[in-house]
Amino acid sequence: MMRIYNTLTSKKEDLKIPPSGEINLFVCGPTVYDYSHIGHARTYIFFDTLVKFMRKRLNIKINYLQNITNIDDRIIKRSAEENKNPQEVADFFEKEYITDMSSLGVNAVDTYAPATKYIPEIISQVERLIKKGFAYSADSSVYFDVRKFPEYGKLSHQKINELKEGVRIEVEAGKKFFADFALWKASKEGEPSWDSPWGKGRPGWHIEDTAITEKYFGLRYNIHGGGLDLIFPHHEAEIAQMEAISGLSPLAEVWIHTGMLLVDGEKMSKSLDNFITIRDFLKENSVYVLRYMVLSQHYRTGLDFYKKTIQMANSSINRIADFKQRLKEVTGQSSHLPWEDFAKTFWHELADDFNTPKALASLFELITETNKLIDTNNLSQNDAQKIVDFIDEVNDILNILPVVSEIETPSQITALLADREKARANKDFELSDKLRDQIKELGWEVEDTAKGPRVTKL
Ligand SMILES: [Zn+2]
Repeated sequence: MMRIYNTLTSKKEDLKIPPSGEINLFVCGPTVYDYSHIGHARTYIFFDTLVKFMRKRLNIKINYLQNITNIDDRIIKRSAEENKNPQEVADFFEKEYITDMSSLGVNAVDTYAPATKYIPEIISQVERLIKKGFAYSADSSVYFDVRKFPEYGKLSHQKINELKEGVRIEVEAGKKFFADFALWKASKEGEPSWDSPWGKGRPGWHIEDTAITEKYFGLRYNIHGGGLDLIFPHHEAEIAQMEAISGLSPLAEVWIHTGMLLVDGEKMSKSLDNFITIRDFLKENSVYVLRYMVLSQHYRTGLDFYKKTIQMANSSINRIADFKQRLKEVTGQSSHLPWEDFAKTFWHELADDFNTPKALASLFELITETNKLIDTNNLSQNDAQKIVDFIDEVNDILNILPVVSEIETPSQITALLADREKARANKDFELSDKLRDQIKELGWEVEDTAKGPRVTKL
């Protein structure tokens, strides 16, 4: 029914649906110390769209859980710089994250779990790991002893004795082995802390995820997702923690990872000054452009953001929207178009490792072929309506077209709205304001929402 690439086995596999008919999915959420950037947008738009596809097209019940890392070195650092309380900084950026997701139309998550609400669950996991001999305490901190877990490295396909001391591994005093990682960190003076059997401290990054997934999903679950950069050491550490506790393997059957996002061929970083926040991007572009850019590439590839890809996304969106408008004007009687074949290919490509670029290619093929028939008046009104319905169904999942509320909206208003969206896409704000005034003169008010422009009668 659906095939998906599993990082754990390095293979595309049939997605197994458990007898319960429900899939438990956990995706790593953000560390809330700054505004979310378009790299986050890529990951969360992908998982949101995948979940909607599985729910709406495949009728699978998905329980979608995401953590929020609201205690972390970077949060503490930022709060010190701004002379604020770390919790205040984390709460602020958590709220901004939720706002950004809603402006992206990302709304498939059932539960957001902020780490600090799960301190007892985290402490319980650390205690069990010590009891089972997988962890040791040193100077009021607790570390996972990776050499006690011989399978450490199985997700990133490395062996313990081949691990190299790298930038991704924190150097800390008290560790027995360089690759050991902190489960519990002793807190320094003035840092946020919680009481624990090892003294005042705070959780390590990896343990919050397994404490949260154990609480909601139990010892094992179906799918774990996140960005490619989290495979090692973060996801590797999660596997070690939870499989050591439960004695069961694998922690999650399927591991799905999204590729990195590059800007003009470079990794996004503050030092390169190419760091683009979601809100800055949306100030100049529509949310549909961002969603289209993300979905026009396969989720596992590196996604490169160039100025020209923004223009290409814009023109692709316009092409689909114009086509839909054109279909509505079709009045022909008979057709010779096997349009269902294109629709079938579209859904088949999504079911094959969520291949959105190939699916979109089949949609554009349908547009080209249908346009030829419309040109020669060889498309029936009936088929035209069915294609409109198909595009609506596509858009219900991909959310790449501005939704103009057409109920009892006169076609003159709909046409002006479409022109205004085009003007906005082309950043011709003078024209878009003029069109808004024109619509107002006709007795309608435009409101721009996350789902596109809405008009209401004045
Ligand atoms: Zn995580």
